[in-house]
Amino acid sequence: MTRENNPFTLAQTQFDQVAEQMHLDEAVRSILRWPLREFRFQLPVRMDDGTIKIFFGFRVQHNDARGPAKGGIRFAANETLDTVRALATWMTWKCAVADIPLGGAKGGVVVDPATLSIGEKERLCREWIDAAWKNLGPRNDVPAPDVGSTAQMMGWMMDEYSKLQGEYVPGVITGKPIGGGGSEGRTAATGFGVIVTIREALKHLGISPTGKTAAMQGFGNVAQYAALTFIEMLGGRVISVSCWDREDKVAYTYTREDGIDPRFLQSITDQYGTIDQEQARANGYQIENGEAWLGKDVDILVPAAIEGVITDYNVAQISPQVKILAEGANGPTTLEADELLKQRDIFVIPDFLCNAGGVTCSYFEQVQSDMNYYWEEEEVLTKLDQKMRNAFRAVLTMAMDRGLYMRDAAYWVAIARVERAMRLRGWI
Ligand code: GLU
Repeated sequence: MTRENNPFTLAQTQFDQVAEQMHLDEAVRSILRWPLREFRFQLPVRMDDGTIKIFFGFRVQHNDARGPAKGGIRFAANETLDTVRALATWMTWKCAVADIPLGGAKGGVVVDPATLSIGEKERLCREWIDAAWKNLGPRNDVPAPDVGSTAQMMGWMMDEYSKLQGEYVPGVITGKPIGGGGSEGRTAATGFGVIVTIREALKHLGISPTGKTAAMQGFGNVAQYAALTFIEMLGGRVISVSCWDREDKVAYTYTREDGIDPRFLQSITDQYGTIDQEQARANGYQIENGEAWLGKDVDILVPAAIEGVITDYNVAQISPQVKILAEGANGPTTLEADELLKQRDIFVIPDFLCNAGGVTCSYFEQVQSDMNYYWEEEEVLTKLDQKMRNAFRAVLTMAMDRGLYMRDAAYWVAIARVERAMRLRGWI
């Protein structure tokens, strides 16, 4: 990883730029540039063949001034301390911009989960909790799923933590399965929230959503539900999704000009997000290279996979027709590409605003788990819609009042809220 594509350099530089604009106090800057606490553990796991394999895991707590630290755990082969630091930092801003009383954290395990059997995966999850549990808890730090982790994995982790505590503690982790302490709406929440922010952006731009087109990168949890909600809530048409092919080790773009069918594609996608090419082709999908989604003549682009994918090398491929870039992924746009986007007439919905629906629903899940009383899906989604709308409005108002780029406005709102909490607690 070079300085240029290190996501933590991106997170710190974005922060520094807005801290400068805000004339932020030196002590506040020093605290917020770095995580409060970082843990790195060895995770020895007995594999199915009887050998012991040592994995590496992380947990980074960036800030907990506004409440318990919160954020997912990624299982990814290229995970590093710096990717986890960046993602933990963005979680602080995400929870603050969504105005939920939580701080920011992130966890990671260096592994491609597709290489593990179910038993190995379960043992690795339990080992991660055994290593981290003393620093977790409903009032300390609450993990959740992210890239490479599933509801079932959260269920095992909650069980392991509860065993160590000697009591049932469902509020220690979110994104759990329904019936195992999970919340209705949690699986769809991030994608749903992405579309609420797009709906609000269209409203602001005076554009009717009906018949608008979108292309998305990724076909995991976020993109699948973003695509469904875009079609069902807004009456739009998604023409392309791009996703990683595990066997070929490259990404492909799947296109149908008359609109993809997310439910059909879901039915031919494996649990790691690889679409069955043969079945897609047989159903009229055109298959192109993995970057083709970015150059489509659509109204809305939704990167909803991983960080660092829109760069100064490919940003020029974005069609003049594109009006909105909605960042469903964390950190999809590099600093250089962001500068170029600012010069174009594209309305950017920045990542930690756009994809805050997942953690907002996680907060609802935690509240329900702590009460041991669960809400209907409609109640969850109504509350989620309202929270996302309020977050969007707060950022838009800041952007308009101060003439700021949307990303800078989101940072401004988030940093001011965290700074206030730190002051009220007497940290500074
Ligand atoms: N991993 C998700 C995110 O990046 C959700 C985090 C959570 O629910 O705590 O926002």
